[in-house]
Amino acid sequence: MNFLLRVLTNNQRFSAGHPEYRRAYLLNVVLVGMFCTCLIFSVLNLFFTGQTGIVILELGGAVFSLVIFLYFHKTDKVKSATLFTVLLFTAVLLGFITLSQNCHNSLFWVSIYPPIVYFMLGKKKGPILMGLFLAYLVLFFLLNRMRWEPAGFDVGYVINVLSSTLALMCAIAYFEHSRAESARVLEKKNEELERLTVTDYLTGLYNRIKLDSVLSKEINKSMFTTYTFSLIMADLDYFKQINDEYGHVVGDRVLSDVANILKNNCREKDIIGRWGGEEFLIICPDTDIQEAQSLSERLLEEVAKYEYKNGKHMTISFGVTQCRKGDTFDSVIKRADIAMYNAKAGGRCRVETI
Ligand code: GH3
Ligand code: MG
Ligand code: MG
Repeated sequence: MNFLLRVLTNNQRFSAGHPEYRRAYLLNVVLVGMFCTCLIFSVLNLFFTGQTGIVILELGGAVFSLVIFLYFHKTDKVKSATLFTVLLFTAVLLGFITLSQNCHNSLFWVSIYPPIVYFMLGKKKGPILMGLFLAYLVLFFLLNRMRWEPAGFDVGYVINVLSSTLALMCAIAYFEHSRAESARVLEKKNEELERLTVTDYLTGLYNRIKLDSVLSKEINKSMFTTYTFSLIMADLDYFKQINDEYGHVVGDRVLSDVANILKNNCREKDIIGRWGGEEFLIICPDTDIQEAQSLSERLLEEVAKYEYKNGKHMTISFGVTQCRKGDTFDSVIKRADIAMYNAKAGGRCRVETI
């Protein structure tokens, strides 16, 4: 399995995540498939039907598949190797149809052409070659109409139908696998994007977008029921001095450290975000003001313990409020702000409630 994967990815040079991974993988699958099919059928034809023209064509197909395969593994040139492969595939298939006519129902192999060519050449060049292929087929049928004969239902017929159907099934399974993988990658990227749109870059906490949305939902929830929640506004004391004294880089690190302290000491259900600059907002669902106050006091102690630089400590102030009947987004935020102002005016490093 490991060996096969190495062969199909040019010794891992086109591993998953490489932009050309899927095309390179398919190219190798087609080349290996074409080499094996041509070789097997040339032996079968040599011993059972004796159609020399077809044997030579199939041997040629096998040899050229091998040559392109070696070329691709040596150069890693996806574009040119794809072009050579499609040309060889077209030549072998058209040659086979032309030489074998409808003998043993060989026309069944026509069905494998569109999916392979379309996937290898893409939605612009793929349909052009498919159109040319179809035009050749129509011409071929018209020119041979006098010689049309029913194909005999013999072993050759069964082998042709079964093997071409198997090849088609493999191609479809590959496309489905590839489609599902793309969908998985896209889903993962979307989740990451969604996470980024609600995350504050510096602290890793939620940003204003998420805080606004959660707060609006909490207000709506409390509007017609007895449900309540509390808000905690937090602001670092004299934070500007840290920036002035040690520079913005240290200031940024302190903000990030304080964010972690808040995160590690809040409850699972609390929504913690950066409201702006050095201000944080904690939305506490299903929480009354006493609970929010004691949570704030715990946070105040934890921040005070934190040593941000050679024995230096800092403090933080909290404004706490609980949602009341008739509150709106603005009114509840305003109260938390006033509580915060009171904490600052009262000497900082304290919790004020309204
Ligand atoms: P107070 O106790 O009254 O809150 O004083 P303060 O110095 O904390 O408040 P002030 O509003 O005067 O200053 C806030 C400072 O926060 C000013 C600004 O440079 C700094 N700040 C805001 N955002 C960031 C940031 O992302 N990184 C850094 N390093 N500093 C920031
Ligand atoms: Mg401040
Ligand atoms: Mg501030």
